[in-house]
Amino acid sequence: ENIFGPERKNSQGINLNIISESTPFFQGLDKYKTTTWTAGPLVNGETLSGETKDVVSPFNTDLVVGKIAFADEQAVELALSSAEAAFPAWCNTPVEVRTEALLKLADLLEENREELIALCTREAGKSMQDGIDEVREAVDFCRYYAVNARKMMAKPELLPGPTGERNELYLEGRGIFVCISPWNFPLAIFLGQVTAALAVGNTVVAKPAEQTSIVGYRATQLAHEAGIPKEVLQFLPGTGATVGAAITSDERIGGVCFTGSTATAKLINRTLAMREGPIIPLIAETGGQNAMVVDSTSQPEQVVNDVVSSSFTSAGQRCSALRVLFLQEDIAERVIDIMQGAMDELTIGSPHFYKTDVGPVIDAAAAANLNAHIEHLKQVGKLIKQVELPEGTEHGHFVAPTAVEIDSIKVLEKEHFGPILHVIRYKSSELERVIQEINSTNFGLTLGIHSRNESHALKLADKIRAGNVYINRNQIGAVVGVQPFGGQGLSGTGPKAGGPHYLTRFITEKTHTNNI
Ligand code: GLU
Repeated sequence: ENIFGPERKNSQGINLNIISESTPFFQGLDKYKTTTWTAGPLVNGETLSGETKDVVSPFNTDLVVGKIAFADEQAVELALSSAEAAFPAWCNTPVEVRTEALLKLADLLEENREELIALCTREAGKSMQDGIDEVREAVDFCRYYAVNARKMMAKPELLPGPTGERNELYLEGRGIFVCISPWNFPLAIFLGQVTAALAVGNTVVAKPAEQTSIVGYRATQLAHEAGIPKEVLQFLPGTGATVGAAITSDERIGGVCFTGSTATAKLINRTLAMREGPIIPLIAETGGQNAMVVDSTSQPEQVVNDVVSSSFTSAGQRCSALRVLFLQEDIAERVIDIMQGAMDELTIGSPHFYKTDVGPVIDAAAAANLNAHIEHLKQVGKLIKQVELPEGTEHGHFVAPTAVEIDSIKVLEKEHFGPILHVIRYKSSELERVIQEINSTNFGLTLGIHSRNESHALKLADKIRAGNVYINRNQIGAVVGVQPFGGQGLSGTGPKAGGPHYLTRFITEKTHTNNI
C-alpha cells in the first residue's frame, strides 16, 4: 500500500547493505571516477563562457572537480529580461503540462543519480549516504510539488455567489522568482526551491551557492532536458555580493526564496524593501541553535545514538543539526560515558569510502572558524571528547567531531555550523530555565526531546519555540511530505519546505466575479 496517497510515492534511494542494489550502484559510480566537469551560467540554455576557476574538493584539495565560470553583469541582465519575457506563456501553460516536466525531471534525476552522487561527494564533500539521500530528497521535491500544484491549480475554486454572479478564485505565478540556495544541500534544496516556483507558474532565476555551482549546473541541464523551457529557468552562478545582490535588487522580480544564514536573509529583506518595484514575498529558511532536552526517564543508549547522528551527520552542516544537548543531571554521566565511546566509532574521512560517517566541512574558512571555536570552548568549558582525525584528512578541510560541556547557552553568540556539540547539565528543578534559555536564542528550528514521560515531552514541545519537534529520535533528515521542514523566529519565515502550504507563498490570487 502506498502511504503517500495514490498520486505519489517517495523515492526509495539505494540500500548499500543489499548487494543487489549496491553492486550496480558502485559500478555506476566508477564511471565518474576521473570525470571533471565544466560549468558556467546557463542563460536561455546556453552555457556562457568566461573566466573560469578551478573547483577543488573539500575532502582533498589536490582533487580538481572541474571548472566554473561565474555570471557577469550581461549574463544577469540577459537572464532577467529573458525570464521576464517568458513569464506570461509559462504562467498560462496548463499546470498539468508544467508539472509533467517536473515529474520527468524526477525520473531523470534517478537515471543520473550516480553522476549526481559523485558530484555531491566531490564538490560538496558529502558522505556517500548523504549523497544518496540528497538525490532522493530532490526527487521527492519534484514529485511532491508537481502533485500539490495540480491539486491546487487544476481548477479555480468556486465560491458562493449570493447575488447570482459567479465567483471564482484563481491561483497563478507571481513572475520571476529568484531562488538562492545553500551548499549544504546543493541538489535537494536547489531543486526544492526551483521546482516549487516553477510548478505554480513562475519563471526562475537560480543562484546556487558559489561553492557548489557544478551540482546546480547539472540539475539545471536536467530540468531543461525534462522539458522546462530554457528561457523559463535561468542559472546564474556567482557570489552573493555580485550576482545575489544584482538579482535581489532588480525591480522586475516577483519573489525570493532563500536558504542560508539569518544575516543574509535580513540583508535580502532590506534589499527588497529598498528597491523600486512591487512589494514581494521573501521565503527564508535560515539558521538555528537547535537543542535536545533529555530527562532522566530516557534510555541512554538510544539518546546517544540520536545525539551522535543529529550532531555529526553531514559533519554537522545541516541547519537542523543538534547544537546544544541539555542533560538532566541524574542521567548525564551515563550518557556522556556512552557518547565518548560512540564518538570513537565514527568513521571520518573520504566520502569515496561508502562507510564514512563524517566528511569534511565545506572550505578552509569554515574549518578555521570551527577550529577557533573549539579552542575557545576548551577555555570556557570542559572538553568531553575530541575525536582524533585519521591519517589522510590533512589533505582536506576536516574538523574533528567534538563535544564540550558548557554552563549556559549564552556562551554561544551564534550558530556554529559544524561537528561541534555543546552539552549543558540541568537539575529537574531547573526545567523552566532550560526552556527560557532555548527560547532566548530567538531561533526556532529543530528541537529534540528524549523522555518516556509523554506529558513531560509534550509540555516541552509546547513551550519551546521550534518548527520541527522530534520526540525520542534523531532530529535531522526531515522527509518530504512527511515532516514538512522549516523554522520560526530567527530560523525562517515559513511556510515549510515539503509541506502542504509551501506553494502558497509562490503564488498570487485573482478573484473573478462574473455577472454576465
Ligand atoms: N531538511 C534537512 C534536515 O531535516 C535540513 C535542511 C538544511 O540544512 O537546510 O536535516
